[in-house]
Amino acid sequence: MTVITPTKILLDESELPTQWYNIVPDLPAPPPPPLHPVTRAPLGPDDLAALFPPALIEQEVTAARYVDIPGEVLDVYRLWRPSPLIRAYRLERSLDTPARIYYKYEGGSPAGSHKPNTAVPQAFYNAKAGIRRLTTETGAGQWGTALAFACAQYDMGCEVWQVRASYDQKPYRRMMIEAFGGTIHPSPSTLTAAGRAILATHPDSTGSLGIAISEAVEVAAASADTNYALGSVLNHVLLHQTVIGEEALAQLAKVGETPDLIVGCAGGGSNLGGLILPFLREKLAGRQSPTLLAVEPTSCPSLTRGVYAYDYGDTAGMTPLVKMRTLGHDFIPDPIHAGGLRYHGMSPLLSHIHELGLMEARAIGQRACFAAGVRFARTEGILPAPEPTHALAVAIEEALRCKESGEQKVILVGLSGHGHLDLSSYDAYLSGAMGDHSLDEAQLRATVAALPAVPA
Ligand SMILES: *Cc1c(COP(=O)(O)O)cnc(C)c1O
Repeated sequence: MTVITPTKILLDESELPTQWYNIVPDLPAPPPPPLHPVTRAPLGPDDLAALFPPALIEQEVTAARYVDIPGEVLDVYRLWRPSPLIRAYRLERSLDTPARIYYKYEGGSPAGSHKPNTAVPQAFYNAKAGIRRLTTETGAGQWGTALAFACAQYDMGCEVWQVRASYDQKPYRRMMIEAFGGTIHPSPSTLTAAGRAILATHPDSTGSLGIAISEAVEVAAASADTNYALGSVLNHVLLHQTVIGEEALAQLAKVGETPDLIVGCAGGGSNLGGLILPFLREKLAGRQSPTLLAVEPTSCPSLTRGVYAYDYGDTAGMTPLVKMRTLGHDFIPDPIHAGGLRYHGMSPLLSHIHELGLMEARAIGQRACFAAGVRFARTEGILPAPEPTHALAVAIEEALRCKESGEQKVILVGLSGHGHLDLSSYDAYLSGAMGDHSLDEAQLRATVAALPAVPA
């Protein structure tokens, strides 16, 4: 008898994971330590105290395999978690593929993406430490929206610097941030020394996540009741996002499936890390053997064309130095529509995992991504955010390869958010106005040459 997989594989609220998973103690080698930006010695906990509360600093460096999720955070998670795992029957049929495609959908959250999974605990731990205001950067506006919502849960202020290109292209997220109670500025702004320095040399700068981070960090460092929150890249962010992978693991087990390929989009690496790290635990323990695949834009290809080196997380060089795949902290990517994938670096943890040969990476142009997004919308009825169309494009490619070979692969896709506030991007694609950017080799050589020197 064949078992028919249901379309939606759901967990009860009682099956919500109660712990986040930390992969570090299970890796064959530890990731290289972050370094102080001035002394270049390994970072101590005190070095981060001006920006982050003690609980998050502890989570950034913890050796524990599991961290309990506070009850107050679980209460907020229950507004949208557990999130559904959906079998993409209609997409499979349109591709005429023997592959079985599942997607883990994070678009049902208050921000319409995976970002509240970490915004909520970050706001919670800061509120508990007596912090009254958080500053942050945002690209497409997803992270700013998530943090504004999270701050509203704990009566905190939220001040957001949004990358200029997105601020102009995507006004609806600014409105949503304001509706959730946040304040928003285009970046580069004249409110900070870092922003003024950029504007002095590039008055028409379209901004970058690196510049916006410099501005938010500068303001947080200058005020005792204000901390900074980062929506991706750091270990504690990936830790919080592991609820995605833990749920997906339980959901696939319910229908007796194990994935052959897990694919997600990678900007700073948080939704991908959150999805794949619990599966990597299973793989390292010999229980499963999925291929783990990161997909990034050709115009911001940190994993596929960047170098593995110590670099700053921001443009002004105020953050610690972390060893990661990077295009150089001065790199300003083209203003592509997937604003959340415009970051010069990649999570140090995922960069390390990539270096160990445990994760693969591929880059893809934005028109191919939007073609996949439209196909997905017309079959599955969800209009994906521009970022996860990168994962969908590769999943579709793989499913078509299975059609040729007859392989019945199980493909799990991270659908990190919906694109309801990205309709202008779909409009640009459908009207034929969208171009494909590729990275300029000379620009890359120049920004890589400007990487900071670090003692061996
Ligand atoms: C921010 C964002 C991303 C990229 O960030 P990661 O940290 O790489 O996950 C991807 N998808 C959506 C929907 C986002 O909002």
